[in-house]
Amino acid sequence: MKIDSIVRRIAEYKQRGLSLFASSSFQSQSTPLLHILSRIDREIPIYFVDTGYLFPETHRFRDLLVDLLGLNVVTLRPTVSKLHQITSDGRLLFASDPDLCCHFNKVEPMEAALARHDVWINGVRADQTKERRAMRIEQAGPYGIRRYHPLLDWTAEDVQVYMRQYGLPRHPLDCQGYVSIGREPCTRRVMDGLARRDGRWFGLNKRECGLHTDLIRAHEAMSGAGDEDADDHGSSPGGQACGS
Ligand code: SF4
Repeated sequence: MKIDSIVRRIAEYKQRGLSLFASSSFQSQSTPLLHILSRIDREIPIYFVDTGYLFPETHRFRDLLVDLLGLNVVTLRPTVSKLHQITSDGRLLFASDPDLCCHFNKVEPMEAALARHDVWINGVRADQTKERRAMRIEQAGPYGIRRYHPLLDWTAEDVQVYMRQYGLPRHPLDCQGYVSIGREPCTRRVMDGLARRDGRWFGLNKRECGLHTDLIRAHEAMSGAGDEDADDHGSSPGGQACGS
């Protein structure tokens, strides 16, 4: 885990006058990056998209981390009312068209932030999915932004080690088998033998968060669809015991 290289790269961005921000969904996996950023510069904005579909435990976990790490969290919300996110046959979008649901509730709220900043720091890891395995530490993103993925080479084990080392708290739902926590309608417990990301969008032809779908398109253009998902089996992250 090369923390020094993260510190150096962020210092270099700042020396060049680039405007930085990070995004976080506030699950246990998020805590190492949030902890590292809090030790480098607590003023870096951490954008948190409150889709209206989050678990109440996620809101409480965000508040806990804000208090613990002194984070500068900026909450973004969708502008399209849920009343306008229903199909003509009365189905909510997350059940009928999850890509469009993610677009309204995650992508659109982030667009202004992407246009306003130069560098987007996010905690994706190559061992999470095959799409993320094709990513690079730094690469171009939408609206001319530069994406920076400081944890891309970290493994699930590295996350556990880091959380244990610094006694970082775990998302309360980790203890209940939710090892990849997204929005309430699209997340379920992960049973033995399933990959971590199998807990997301189960039964739907969707593998990636709306914020990162530009990378799916790039990956499919490069390699074609249909490979197996990355082997992201594993237990919940380490760190402290789950809170309530
Ligand atoms: S994760 Fe599910 S509920 Fe959340 S925005 Fe995407 S489709 Fe909608």
